[in-house]
Amino acid sequence: MNNEISRFAPSTTGPAHPGTLLAALLCWLDARSRGADIILRLENLDPDRCQPAFAEAMITDLAWLGLSFDVVEWQSQQHARHVAAMDYLADKGLLYPSTFSRRDLEMLGRRTPDGGWAYDNRERGKPLPVGGWRACTEPLRVQLPDEEFSPLDESGCDLRQTPTLAFGDPIVRRRDGAFAYHLVAVVDDAACGVTHVVRGRDIATSTATQVALQQVLGLPTPQYRHHFLLLEQRERKLAKLHGSIGLPVLRQFYDAPTLCGWLAHVAGLAPAGTTCLPTELVRDFSWERVQTHDVLVQWNGQELMVAHD
Ligand code: GLU
Repeated sequence: MNNEISRFAPSTTGPAHPGTLLAALLCWLDARSRGADIILRLENLDPDRCQPAFAEAMITDLAWLGLSFDVVEWQSQQHARHVAAMDYLADKGLLYPSTFSRRDLEMLGRRTPDGGWAYDNRERGKPLPVGGWRACTEPLRVQLPDEEFSPLDESGCDLRQTPTLAFGDPIVRRRDGAFAYHLVAVVDDAACGVTHVVRGRDIATSTATQVALQQVLGLPTPQYRHHFLLLEQRERKLAKLHGSIGLPVLRQFYDAPTLCGWLAHVAGLAPAGTTCLPTELVRDFSWERVQTHDVLVQWNGQELMVAHD
C-alpha cells in the first residue's frame, strides 16, 4: 500500500491564473508519478478576500485542465480542528494578544525575507483576557522556539532560518477572528496525513515557521519541495504572475490540451507547440527535467508568451 499523500492548496481569493495551474500541474504530476493520493484543499478562510464563487471556479478550472483529486476539502469546514489546535496552544501558555500594528512594525524597520516587516516578539507573556483566546479582540500570536530550523527541501532550496528572528512569532488568529494561514496549513496537512508538500518558491520562506509550529503542536513534518514560478512585469517590478490574466479570459483563447501543453513546455517537460493531457505527462515526469529558473511571461491579449528580459 502507498501511504503517500500530497495536497494542492490554492487560496481562493480570485480566479485561477496560469501560475496557479502550473503549481497544480507540478504538484499533481509529482503525486501521480509516485502513485500518491492528492488532496485539493481550498484555502478560503480570509473573509475579506475569499469568495465561494472563486472556490467553485477553482474546482471547475482544475477539472477542465484534466486534473483529478482524490479528496476535495474546504478549509472553512475544518473549524473544529483549528479550534482544537488553538486550545492546545493556549493550554501550553503559548498564545498572546498582540496590539502591534503594521505601522508599528514598519517603525521597527526590519524587513522579513519575503519583503514584509518583522516583529520582535516584545509582547510575549502578555496574558489572554478573562474568557481565554476566544474572548480576545486583538490578534493572537504564538510563541515559537527561538531556534534555527533547517527543513530539507527536495529541490535543494535552502530553507534554513530562525523564524522568530526572520519574521517574529506569527499571528495565528486575526483581529476579525479568522485563523491565519500558517496555523491552519500545518493543522490541515497533519489531519489529512499529508506526507509531501509541493508548492511555489514564493512560499519557501514560510516553511521554517511552519516546521516550528509543527514542533510546538507535536505534528509531523512532511517532505517539502518548492518549484519555480511564472512571473510578470508589474509596475517595473517582477511579481508572481497573477494580475494580468485569469482563467475566465484565458479559456476564451485556449482549450485545455493547448494550455496544458504550454505549461508543460514552460516547465521543460514538452517541446513548444505540444498539446496534451496531464495524464500523458505522468509516465516521463521527473523533477530532473523540470525548469529551475523562474520564467517571465507576458499576455499579449491573445496568447501567453515567454518574455526575455
Ligand atoms: N494557499 C497558498 C497559496 O495559494 C499556498 C499554501 C501552501 O501551499 O502551503 O499561495
